[in-house]
Amino acid sequence: MLKSIELSGFKSFAKKTELNFPARISAIVGPNGSGKSNLAEAFRFALGEQSMKSLRGSRSDDLLWNGSNQLPRANRAGVKTVFDNTGDRLNVDFDEVAVERVMHRDSSHQYFLNGSQVRLKDILEMLASANIGPTGHHIISQGEADRILMVKPAERKRIIEDALGLKIYHYKKDESEKKLEKTHDNLQEILALQREIEPELRSLSRQMSRIDKARRIQKETYKKAHLFFASKEHHIQQRYEDLDTKERELKERKYTLEEKVSAYTPKEDTQSKEVLSNLKEERKEVEKKRQALLKEQRELERTIGRLEGRLMATSSREEEQEGSISFSRLILLKEDILTVLREDNAAERITTLFDACMRGGQKKDSTEKEESIREEIGEKRREEKQLSLREKEYTQALSSLEEKIEKHSSGVQRSDEEILDIKDEIRACISGLEDITKERASLEEEREEIKRDVADLGIILGHGIASYMDLLEQEDFNPLGKEELRDLRREIERGRIQIEDADLSEAKGVERAYREVKERNDFLQKEIDDLRSTRSSLEGLIRDLEKELNEKFKEGITDINAQFNHFFTMLFGGGSAELAVITEEKQDGSEEEGVTIEVELPQKRIKGLTMLSGGERALTSIALVFSISHINPPPFLILDETDAALDEANSRKYGDMIEALSEQSQLILVTHNRETMSRAGLLYGVTMGGDGVSRLLSVKFEDAKELAAR
Ligand code: ATP
Ligand code: MG
Repeated sequence: MLKSIELSGFKSFAKKTELNFPARISAIVGPNGSGKSNLAEAFRFALGEQSMKSLRGSRSDDLLWNGSNQLPRANRAGVKTVFDNTGDRLNVDFDEVAVERVMHRDSSHQYFLNGSQVRLKDILEMLASANIGPTGHHIISQGEADRILMVKPAERKRIIEDALGLKIYHYKKDESEKKLEKTHDNLQEILALQREIEPELRSLSRQMSRIDKARRIQKETYKKAHLFFASKEHHIQQRYEDLDTKERELKERKYTLEEKVSAYTPKEDTQSKEVLSNLKEERKEVEKKRQALLKEQRELERTIGRLEGRLMATSSREEEQEGSISFSRLILLKEDILTVLREDNAAERITTLFDACMRGGQKKDSTEKEESIREEIGEKRREEKQLSLREKEYTQALSSLEEKIEKHSSGVQRSDEEILDIKDEIRACISGLEDITKERASLEEEREEIKRDVADLGIILGHGIASYMDLLEQEDFNPLGKEELRDLRREIERGRIQIEDADLSEAKGVERAYREVKERNDFLQKEIDDLRSTRSSLEGLIRDLEKELNEKFKEGITDINAQFNHFFTMLFGGGSAELAVITEEKQDGSEEEGVTIEVELPQKRIKGLTMLSGGERALTSIALVFSISHINPPPFLILDETDAALDEANSRKYGDMIEALSEQSQLILVTHNRETMSRAGLLYGVTMGGDGVSRLLSVKFEDAKELAAR
């Protein structure tokens, strides 16, 4: 797969030098210091090595031909490796792939893929696809063979993962982790935004529920007001009709009586007449007072209703935080009150009921304000009781007056002449007619009052309530009685106070603000949900990758172990060798997996790596490197004097292993070892003259031995 390498200006290769590798095993031989290791490093360089240390340099200048007496220094170092890609191992669409790296004295680098400049990343990705990984496990530098024995367990694990071709899982995992971190940051940011608007949203939704409640009350009150005014109007109309009938009757009666009078000459009994007329005057007075009292009673009822409404509004505001008198409780209260109202000591009993209800409904002590409203209600109720007592007195007075008038009239009738009676009756008719006129006026007044009420309530209930007359037209309309009307009036007043308290004039603004904040919140919530689902899928992906990596790694270790033990026992003629996966604690307290090597030599009590001889170490590392390569063969392996420490017997075994390995990977071996040279299909000699320039020559095996010995 590796076809050739071409160097110019790189280290000791001052002049353009090209090596072709048509054989499975190529050996590079030559005296010490001639430039063989430079050649091995040229591969690293071309394939994107970034570590100067791996290239035995301290500055990038060290990689350029440094010049000698005969040849000036180079300003450019270039190394080009050419791969045969007919087997498509490299993930590019070329049969031949040339990877070239050029470096200048100013440390600038360029990478070329088949002559076109590309990024280092492109080169690394392409090579990774053919298991030519960045840890360079396929290029073993001089003296570095036992690096795998010396590194820490965690680093050893990384080298093995890379050699097993598992690096790709790490790339993917890192990428997902970066995304996860970004998702996490975004999520925190959006959660913070949501937290920011949360208090506003909470306050607005509280306001919204107050508005909704007020609207509900508004709707109910609207219906109640309709029914109330329609019923009132119905009664007024009824009374008008009654008055009309009465008027007609009185007029007829008067006419008949007047007819009679015109036929008689009257003889008056002034004394009886005076008594009667005084009595009637008195009756009129009492009636007037009673009417005034009734009006006062109506006013009082409305006031009580309003006070109760205010009380409910106050406690419903508390209810938002505490929970207070429930609506059902209020209904019960109303029922109780209606029953009690018909009893004698109504006001006191109602006050007691109210207090009990308030105490029962509220966990918290009533506020001062509530207390004072309640006191006021109690007072009004007492007033109301007084009024109804007085009304009773008036009614009694009226009926006793009525009796007296009756008696006197009959007395007058009996004692008087008939004509006087008739005249009295006519006067009664006239006064009756006058009363009718007055009653009509008072009905008119009542209508005016209704109109004012309608206009007043219209402000908070909507002007639609003026259409209450329509209700009268409806067939199923059922006008309410006096008692029911009184209750309804109170309910309306209660409703009105609650609606006024909720201040619906700001409802539109609140609604808009609520909608906006809610929309923003919903939007953020959706983002949060999306990010959370992204987060969990990334976490899932990372878990899967880790699981797969772990499984593949463990499988790889098992496979390598079989091979490792095989090579080890072959090289040592017995014993055993094994890799073990361990978990270590890192300095920061977190845990990390690593790989340790356990060996046992035959017939020796030696366990562990530290007690091995140099040659034994070399053999162990060769066994391990070869077994790793065996499990996941790289396209080529470059070994720089890996065999340096081996004795003759081991050199032969090494030669056997190389030959076995070369079936899967192309091998380029830098060596001084005759046995190794004998296994190579192609030999290159490297020499260095007095000018310090490395030169290349193709050599035969016999020459090679001599060259190596020179
Ligand atoms: P050995 O068999 O001892 O390992 P080698 O053939 O591997 O020897 P190298 O290490 O490849 O030898 O070559 C070392 C030589 O390369 C040194 O003598 C050094 O002078 C020369 N050299 C290294 N860097 C440069 C450079 N930038 N310019 C010129 N010559 C260099
Ligand atoms: Mg060397």
